Amino acid sequence: MGGDPPRFLVVGAGLSGAVLARQLAESGCPCDVYEDHPYAGGHCYTKRDAETGIMVHRHGPHTLHTDDEAIWAFVERFATIWPYKHLKRAHTGGEFFVSPINLQTINQFYRTALGPDEARALVAREAAPYAAALTGPPANFEEAGLALIGRRLYDAFYRGYTIKQWGIEPRNLPASVFGRVPIRFDYNDNYFKHNRQGQPVGGYSQLVERILDHENIRLHLGRAFSPRDDGAGHAHVFFSGPLDSYFDWRHGRLPYRTLRFEDERSVGVRQGCAVINYCDETTSFTRVTEHKFFSPWEKPEATLVSYEYSSDWGPDDAPYYPLRLTKDRSLLDAYVATARATEGVSFIGRLGTYRYIDMDVAITEALAAASTVLDCVRGGRPIPTFFIEP
Ligand code: UDP
Repeated sequence: MGGDPPRFLVVGAGLSGAVLARQLAESGCPCDVYEDHPYAGGHCYTKRDAETGIMVHRHGPHTLHTDDEAIWAFVERFATIWPYKHLKRAHTGGEFFVSPINLQTINQFYRTALGPDEARALVAREAAPYAAALTGPPANFEEAGLALIGRRLYDAFYRGYTIKQWGIEPRNLPASVFGRVPIRFDYNDNYFKHNRQGQPVGGYSQLVERILDHENIRLHLGRAFSPRDDGAGHAHVFFSGPLDSYFDWRHGRLPYRTLRFEDERSVGVRQGCAVINYCDETTSFTRVTEHKFFSPWEKPEATLVSYEYSSDWGPDDAPYYPLRLTKDRSLLDAYVATARATEGVSFIGRLGTYRYIDMDVAITEALAAASTVLDCVRGGRPIPTFFIEP
């Protein structure tokens, strides 16, 4: 890089902002990172509970999982990642089942003792009428679910949970959300399918803090960002806050779901695994997390569980899940068009691009964004205003 390297501003000290800032900083570009909360970590923020000392996933359960060795190598530079298998259970109709649906779940649910092929045939028979009715790829979550597992499993494990989680009829959700959870015809009860799965010893906030710990990065915690006042003095702004907030909600508010957690402390073990999903509508919470199962190397006497409630987001709430409904697409398109036409700023991460992304995706995209930026810097080209199509 000839001459003085450009100084960048990254808004948001979550995983996306931290990884991007780190890559730019390591290539000699100084970065200011503004974070309006008094802590780093964003959505994967973790904090030890003052009373029990248990590491709590404050914004809901997180597991790092990927097949990409480069991602794994990147995070291992900053934390010891404890190999971890995410075990989840599902509660429906008054019983506990293995989740995701596997051979154990199917046999318990149908009161059968089938092998893999017979179970696959049973589920295919249940799904056949719905699969036959499709004239193309499933248009929404409900069509995708019914065509894959049929009415009975779908109603027991997906319908109620999805209504509680998203606050809408599942036929209004994109089919891709159904695709997040596997269905298995063996006894594998690992929630995720990736080769690499783990939890950072020290928690996710510490991981993010360490990523940000570089001589070319100045982290400003508790520092709100103002698009009008703060861009000057920086060669480019990378914004990982809510896309609509950058533009003062000029086209209207993009909808989100927000979460509320109710903690309960006790001793011993409360539920026996990290997460139990409550899949029917007999409870108003969606899931219960017993946090000490995320840190199996720590063996506290105490335990802490969080009941998770999902609801519509209001302006004073934290925006957790982008609620991407087909009917809101024109609102999102309006913001994308505005973002594209705005020079000097790029939008990154879950909130900046208004997408439901996992941590490995956030890291992959931030690494890719950094290499695009650095190519532009080295080639003396302007930095593009938008990276990822929401
Ligand atoms: N889902 C469900 N029942 C389950 C698990 C998942 O209905 O037991 C649906 C629900 O709509 C959820 C989506 O599948 O929002 C994705 O699930 P995932 O476990 O990936 O949710 P996350 O942990 O990202 O909130």
